Amino acid sequence: MCNFFDRFHLCEVRLSFKLKHKGNKKYNMTAVIELHDLTKTYKLGDEVLHALDHVTCTIQAGEFVAITGPSGSGKSTLANIIGGLDRPTSGTVLIDGQDLSHVRDRQLSDYRNHHIGFVFQSFNLQGTQTALENVMLPLVFSRMKSKDRKARAHECLEAVGLGDRLKHRPSQLSGGQRQRVAIARALAAKPSIILADEPTGNLDSARGDEIMKLLKDLNKQGITLIVITHDMSIAKQADRVIQIKDGKVAH
Ligand code: ADP
Ligand code: MG
Repeated sequence: MCNFFDRFHLCEVRLSFKLKHKGNKKYNMTAVIELHDLTKTYKLGDEVLHALDHVTCTIQAGEFVAITGPSGSGKSTLANIIGGLDRPTSGTVLIDGQDLSHVRDRQLSDYRNHHIGFVFQSFNLQGTQTALENVMLPLVFSRMKSKDRKARAHECLEAVGLGDRLKHRPSQLSGGQRQRVAIARALAAKPSIILADEPTGNLDSARGDEIMKLLKDLNKQGITLIVITHDMSIAKQADRVIQIKDGKVAH
């Protein structure tokens, strides 16, 4: 899977992608996601692997959708395409009517940096940096002053209940706390969409429940929430379940 921080370092930010991003808003609130006939194929020698096989679906702004399916069915591939970490082989991805499929890399990174908050199973925090520094990272592209970036990161850590752990490094935090830092980092740039790929996969069930509560609270505040999971007890908490099987949406 792509490491989005590697891509952070590769991309320049120029606000050429039309963004509904205003500093005084709590989050960016509109994001209808329309996927039309998406395919993603990988060539492995002579073989062609169809990771996504003509996927069409729509996710409305403000929905909480669970994407489920067995391991290898294409869930992460789909999430990475929705999040602009990857591109489809064919088909279109419309976000608020804007087609992401053919935009330049720079526009795709603008979209990713300003519209999407990612949460991963393995937290993906920078081990040498404090909680506060980790949450400040995505704001490097925001043109905010360092003082304001710090204040925003502090605010996000408060929001996830870690206002008293600002200077802790990931190794000094529990798994549940690390995932909270990752959620704070996902919130920092005021995203319209949170994409969480197996967010409770490395946590015990009590910690997993806490993380799901936090994500659902954010959804109640208006953020579109997409949780990728193979855990049916999580999927059933969603407004709607999209089931993926062999790269296809199962009906
Ligand atoms: P899931 O998240 O549902 O477990 P993935 O989306 O990660 O599934 O993978 C879907 C299929 O695509 C799998 O068969 C996987 O092996 C394959 N796949 C994913 N990424 C790559 C890649 N970079 N190169 C080749 N095959 C890949
Ligand atoms: Mg996966």
